[in-house]
Amino acid sequence: MSLVARAITKSYAEQTVLHPLDLTIEPRERLAVIGETGSGKTTLLKCLSGLLDLDGGQVLYEGARVKGPSERLLPGHPAISYLSQSVDLRSHYRVVDLLERHSLQEQELDRKLADLCRIGDLLHRMTDQLSGGERQRVALAIELSKHPQLLLLDEPFSHLDNSHRNILQEVLDDLHQHQGITLVIVSHHPTEILGWADRMLAMRKGACMQIGSPEELYENPKDAYIAQLLGPYNLIPMGKKGDLTIIRPERLRIVEPNSSALSGVIQKKQYAGNGALYTVQSNEDTFLVMDQNRHHSIGQEVGIFVDLNPNA
Ligand code: ADP
Repeated sequence: MSLVARAITKSYAEQTVLHPLDLTIEPRERLAVIGETGSGKTTLLKCLSGLLDLDGGQVLYEGARVKGPSERLLPGHPAISYLSQSVDLRSHYRVVDLLERHSLQEQELDRKLADLCRIGDLLHRMTDQLSGGERQRVALAIELSKHPQLLLLDEPFSHLDNSHRNILQEVLDDLHQHQGITLVIVSHHPTEILGWADRMLAMRKGACMQIGSPEELYENPKDAYIAQLLGPYNLIPMGKKGDLTIIRPERLRIVEPNSSALSGVIQKKQYAGNGALYTVQSNEDTFLVMDQNRHHSIGQEVGIFVDLNPNA
């Protein structure tokens, strides 16, 4: 699998939705696309999969140009699957029949695929008797039965509760490990996506703002826009010039008030599993501190230690 996008652009009427964007997706890669609503994530996925005609540039799959819907009888590229946020399964079908109808493989392999997608016990259900998470996994199995090499998933976690989200996460891990499928996921769930992705692409207003490892984007986001996509952050004056640096709350610790350059009063305390997230007010500034000690109290005067080398 190799996919290269070269200076692809897309506009609707007067609005440019994708600015010239270059992207190479590596074989077996897990790429996460993040960005605010309307930043062009869905448009990008549809352009990559041949479901939208480009205004400029090219998408190359294995070196050959991916054609848009105006050039093909059936829109889309046979080796690329796009699964949208809203799963639309045909009603009045049993899952097993719907899968068989679309599948390009033997029935026995469909059963294995059903197990992989954790829908093995749903095969004899009617499609309108499925929960949202189950519908999504059925739609995923249908797509996989067509043997895509690249799977593009548009916000697959957005309407799922925790248990369905965990199941889908396991399915995607299995797919990646055992089937060697390359995955691109649009997501609004920083915690899941940070632990899962090999690389992340942050978009804003139709442009790629930053691309890199999850650690790079989380620890060294280019700007506050990218920082906020992945969770809470602080802007802390650093160095001689006092330039503002983006620092995550986990890098800060509560210490004795007089032992640090930064100090303030705890305004808010939020339970956070193995610690607490404290909001500390310091003159005009507010700092977020994730501390393992949950026993500090609101109103307490504290110092803030900035740990710039947590693993050193
Ligand atoms: P995202 O997935 O990041 O939320 P989209 O790719 O869906 O963003 O949309 C990017 C921009 O393109 C938005 O401003 C949206 O309103 C606009 N857009 C998307 N599809 C269409 C369309 N079919 N016609 C006109 N504008 C569209």
